[in-house]
Amino acid sequence: MDNVVLHVADVHKSFAGLHALSDIDLSVREGETHAIIGPNGAGKSTLLNVCIGRLKPDSGHVVFDGENLTGKQPHQINQLGVVRVFQTPEIFPELSILENVMVPILAKRDGSFKLNWFKRFSGEAEVRDKASSILSDLGLGSMLQHDASSLSRGDKRRLELAMGLSQDPRLLLLDEPTAGMARHDTNATIELLKDIKATGMTKVIIEHDMHVVFSLADRISVLAGGRIICQGTPEEVKADPRVKEAYLGEEQV
Ligand code: ADP
Ligand code: MG
Repeated sequence: MDNVVLHVADVHKSFAGLHALSDIDLSVREGETHAIIGPNGAGKSTLLNVCIGRLKPDSGHVVFDGENLTGKQPHQINQLGVVRVFQTPEIFPELSILENVMVPILAKRDGSFKLNWFKRFSGEAEVRDKASSILSDLGLGSMLQHDASSLSRGDKRRLELAMGLSQDPRLLLLDEPTAGMARHDTNATIELLKDIKATGMTKVIIEHDMHVVFSLADRISVLAGGRIICQGTPEEVKADPRVKEAYLGEEQV
């Protein structure tokens, strides 16, 4: 458990003079679910974007499994097993659910992906089987041929999670996996994420819903104004007055 998989070291990132991230130091240990919480605009998504190479830090670096990610392209970081499930579902509505999960498997294998090419491509049994097995595990096994556009919001999230898991993540980064969900779908997502946690997969989860955070997190880092103001176990974070203060005017912690 003490084996650090992801280390964010002294990261700074500004946008036109706005300090989105300052002095960020964060270690994620193998197998843990590490939650990053904080009010809107705190810098959570920026931090995740730095980790996956979508944004370059102004200074500092990110090390994954002993390898410095700074300067690497997003697809290179993805190839190392760092997979982000996006805040906005990025699915292909014109493809079936099964095909949607085949896309990232093929993209990872071949290093690139073109939708036109995929449409003409009949699919290899191995890739189909893998996609279908992941979807069945997530409860979408009876809907493989449905259009992705026909899915409910909760099922779209499930599909998105399947697309993430299909890339064999060694580190799964989730940006607000329950955003916009009704309580029923949120609870179902918590159960899914608990199942994933039980496999020992290392996860970083950004989440606004404290019920989700406290149901899943082993450790929590609290961001406010681009700085980490508190780090610790859920109990430690709950008891820290700085956290309540950071959320004043927002929802209750
Ligand atoms: P969070 O995910 O915690 O809500 P973000 O990381 O999205 O916060 O944003 C942190 C701050 O950086 C906000 O003030 C936001 O407006 C700003 N910001 C984020 N991305 C950009 C960008 N691409 N250009 C300019 N400002 C940005
Ligand atoms: Mg965000």
